Amino acid sequence: MSSEAWGEAWETVIGLEVHCELRTATKLFCGCPNSFGDEPNVNVCPVCLGLPGSLPVLNKQAVELALRIGAALHSRAQSSIFHRKNYFYPDMPKDYQISQYDVPINAGGWLELPSGKQVGIVRAHIEEDTGKTTHIGGGGRIHEAGYSLVDYNRAGVPLVEIVSAPDISSAEEAREYVEELRGILVATGASDGKMEEGSLRVDCNVSVRPAGSEELGTRCEIKNMNSLRSLGRAIAYEAARQVEVRAGGGEVQQETRHWDESEGRTHSMRSKEEAFDYRYFPEPDLVTLSPSEDWVATVRANLGVLPAERRRRVAKAARVPASSEPVSTVVRLGLDGFVAAAVEAEADAGLALRRLANEVAGELGDDGGHHLGREEFARLVSMEERGELTSAQARSVLKIMVAEGGGPEEVAGRLGFEAMGAGALEAVVEDVVVANPREWGRYAAGDDKLAGFFIGKVKAATGGNADLRAASELLRRRRAGQ
Ligand code: ADP
Ligand code: MG
Ligand code: ZN
Repeated sequence: MSSEAWGEAWETVIGLEVHCELRTATKLFCGCPNSFGDEPNVNVCPVCLGLPGSLPVLNKQAVELALRIGAALHSRAQSSIFHRKNYFYPDMPKDYQISQYDVPINAGGWLELPSGKQVGIVRAHIEEDTGKTTHIGGGGRIHEAGYSLVDYNRAGVPLVEIVSAPDISSAEEAREYVEELRGILVATGASDGKMEEGSLRVDCNVSVRPAGSEELGTRCEIKNMNSLRSLGRAIAYEAARQVEVRAGGGEVQQETRHWDESEGRTHSMRSKEEAFDYRYFPEPDLVTLSPSEDWVATVRANLGVLPAERRRRVAKAARVPASSEPVSTVVRLGLDGFVAAAVEAEADAGLALRRLANEVAGELGDDGGHHLGREEFARLVSMEERGELTSAQARSVLKIMVAEGGGPEEVAGRLGFEAMGAGALEAVVEDVVVANPREWGRYAAGDDKLAGFFIGKVKAATGGNADLRAASELLRRRRAGQ
């Protein structure tokens, strides 16, 4: 069902649970390396394999990173404890996961979206990751697989799970939330932010309710979305499905659903487990985790600049609202240093912002790579500003600078864009006016339509190399007798 079909009658409510693998050197409770992509089962020891008699020792660096995440999300750091969450699955050799339950290290907080909207944070707690199973045959699905392989390299890798309040109200906003959170996690040094390597994994809770209602509807939890694109698609599908059920007089069952990327739909996986199913109890092998006030204060003091603050800086330089799209694009892509370089060179920061958000953003490699130098970029902006390059020329030059590097003067020369000084342009305008006295008479008498005629002549006379805005300005001034 399309969203138009249910119109304004229903609204979507979304809460996200994001698992973030921390960039520590070693695992959460043992000294095994925390590294992705190694040969299976090389980074293991008695602790992370859950062998009898082994004991966990908490990784201080993991706690430090968890505190940084909490500070960046305006959470309260508190004394916390670890619990055992009991369940059986072959990727978890201890048969329980050590996790924080009712007393997490970070409680409460909020995250500000680029739009300015604040999404509440319920908690950001520490837990350990599981190993990874791979089902062989049957298209990778467990039920049809011939056999399964398990890799314990990931077992015991430190995670922070960030749980949002149900404050998110569309698929688009959910994507914005994850992007913003990813930016924060990278800025704090807590994560590499690589969704495709599983460093960030998102579970999504979706419900619908009649528009304007205060009450929450029954939710479904969706798992297995491994890109922002699938997150958006899964939410859109699931919300429409629930509306259809409820509009038809049915009830949504609380359950966990699996997103099938190729079919573009969610499937029921299992009825939602309740906390009591896990028989949580305090982990007897670990003491209360009580970070000192000094430690927490030091973490806060050394947080560094977060994306929201970077957006404010870019917006101020370019004199546009911090919530505007070009600002968030430039910050998300890490291009704000180029705006700063333009400001430094006294080039037009607003023009720099537009060129970055449009041309540069569109030309970046898949990994965000480019060859653009900051000073070179600032010089290009100045050249466009002075009318030495038309905006079309500046855009062409910029694309090459992004792909190959180089300075704007040299690239413009290579493309045959003769820098057109103001004096040269004046001479061309004078020529076309003198050559077309009748048209000039009508334009001079106030017929503005003739401006286009003269601009066309200027364009033809210069082989497209003139700054046409500057040319119109010259025409206007000549008419005004200036
Ligand atoms: P659980 O421990 O079962 O996963 P939580 O109460 O911790 O449940 O909530 C998990 C997530 O579900 C949170 O992100 C929360 O915002 C979200 N959530 C809770 N109720 C709803 C609802 N009715 N609709 C959408 N999201 C919800
Ligand atoms: Mg949950
Ligand atoms: Zn280990």
